[in-house]
Amino acid sequence: MSARTERRSFLAAPASLLPPAVEAGAGGRARASAGDVEERLREACAAIPGRIVFTTSFGLEDQVLTHVIARSGLGGRISFVTLDTGRLFPEVYDLWAQTEERYGVSIQAHLPRADDVERLVRDQGINGFRISPEARKACCAVRKLVPLDQALQGASGWITGLRADQSHARADTSFMEEDAQRGLLKISPLHDWSRERALEFAQGHDVPLNPLHERGFVSIGCAPCTRAIAPGEPERAGRWWWEQDAAKECGLHVGSDGRLVRARAVEATS
Ligand code: SF4
Repeated sequence: MSARTERRSFLAAPASLLPPAVEAGAGGRARASAGDVEERLREACAAIPGRIVFTTSFGLEDQVLTHVIARSGLGGRISFVTLDTGRLFPEVYDLWAQTEERYGVSIQAHLPRADDVERLVRDQGINGFRISPEARKACCAVRKLVPLDQALQGASGWITGLRADQSHARADTSFMEEDAQRGLLKISPLHDWSRERALEFAQGHDVPLNPLHERGFVSIGCAPCTRAIAPGEPERAGRWWWEQDAAKECGLHVGSDGRLVRARAVEATS
């Protein structure tokens, strides 16, 4: 298999791999349905009276959710937010602009505090996150966790693109969970979707995607902390690949013990 063919295999989903929820559309092209996701989003909006925030990092799953939220008319109820760490790939900024234009939405950026970044860089250097897991977590705290807390301030609901089969650490992800630490309900409408289904949906609905996906970047975070993965490697193997910790999380969704941050799953109808 050539390198080019191997790279394509990240995007190609053989028909035999497609789950039953992927329907045959007009012209015979397989087309994944958004029905269940739209229903779940509506259910969440009905169940949560206050502000609901959707945090996107412009990955495949987030782009699928952006499409469904915007096209279902729920954009007025759900705020689009992204965490601009200052270390993102140029392709992410291009996709950000393209997504806003395509869907007519405004995606609010939350940036790290300038004084925190200055202190961090002074203490550990501009790429000091490679020194140790602690240094890396300190960088993620400044560039991601503080801005996330700011983004979720006053929110009652938090929509994420998590899928349970992304990694062992995310295996227990369910549709609606109580995030006791942040005092809100965390919603993962794609919790039971496979990557193949998300990809099929995106391709079938012409959802703009990060071109890095075609080059083997499956889970995309900050540029210096993300590499392409080889066929057969776990989805999140390209994140902080120099660390041995299999959890591969930055703290947005798991605690320091590597377990998902949650109190309990909330009973839901889907
Ligand atoms: S992913 Fe890397 S650059 Fe981004 S915040 Fe974490 S350690 Fe820092």
